Amino acid sequence: MNYQTILEEIYEQIQPELQIGKVANYIPALKEVNADDFAMSIHLLDGTSYNIGSYNKKFSIQSISKVFTFSMALEIYSKKLYKRVWHEPSGNPFNSLVQLEYEKGIPRNPFINAGAIVTTDTLLSHYKTEDKTFEAINNFINRLCKEKIDFDEKIYNSELKHGFRNQALASLMKSFNNIKNPINKTLNIYFKHCSLMMSCEQLATSMLYLANHGIDPKTKEIYLNSSRAKRVNSLMLTCGHYDASGDFAFHVGLPGKSGVGGGIVAIVPKKMAICVYSPRLNSKGNSHAGTKALELFTSKTKLSIF
Ligand code: GLN
Repeated sequence: MNYQTILEEIYEQIQPELQIGKVANYIPALKEVNADDFAMSIHLLDGTSYNIGSYNKKFSIQSISKVFTFSMALEIYSKKLYKRVWHEPSGNPFNSLVQLEYEKGIPRNPFINAGAIVTTDTLLSHYKTEDKTFEAINNFINRLCKEKIDFDEKIYNSELKHGFRNQALASLMKSFNNIKNPINKTLNIYFKHCSLMMSCEQLATSMLYLANHGIDPKTKEIYLNSSRAKRVNSLMLTCGHYDASGDFAFHVGLPGKSGVGGGIVAIVPKKMAICVYSPRLNSKGNSHAGTKALELFTSKTKLSIF
């Protein structure tokens, strides 16, 4: 299959979609992007890659970071992790508080904010200090990416200053004893990993372990055992796009994870990892053109898992 030609076709067909949707503004620093940007990268297990658009431009990975932190926590805590964060779709917006009240502070899944805050809290308990925890997360991604990545100070501070919902989620969960560390420490790390900056190319490379049963195809390093890699993929399929996860599965048909920075990663099991970037979001907080581009991709290549 000629993936470069496919990317070129998608690039042309996606142009009218690039104006639809709105850049996230509830974290003010996220507004400062070129709203018209578009990029897409495909990385195959054999090391070949295909790219289009501004694929080297770094953007805030936001909730895509939750895939890495969940992978780390799963390796450390195994099944015990599910006592603190469940594996069911929420059907609610990513920052919703409602279910937490009657589900006794146990978030539905690790990809909504509440679930990712708990995951980060478990990592803080394991690595003990804020610095060591963030360093471990950063190193985990650096190794997958084979390049050193860093967080954006301005975006981090903007999230800290405007993260009222996340503070509410963390406080509510703390009241149910599902946050074990001081709320501000857990949130500092959560905001920091959300404000990590990566390009489409870097994200596609870094996600290849999930297309390869948890093993980095290049270095052969084992990040997850194959059964845990299956869990991460299945949660990406069922929960990776919050209350639009069904819609994403319906239209794209791949495990995927979005972030409000405008990125989406998708996995074609045993074949490749894809990353697409376009910062205008739909009403559910997922990249509008990014979702359309992935839909075009699976229609053209017939590489949906279904
Ligand atoms: N950092 C963002 C938040 O907490 C992540 C949300 C997202 O990407 N959906 O609101």
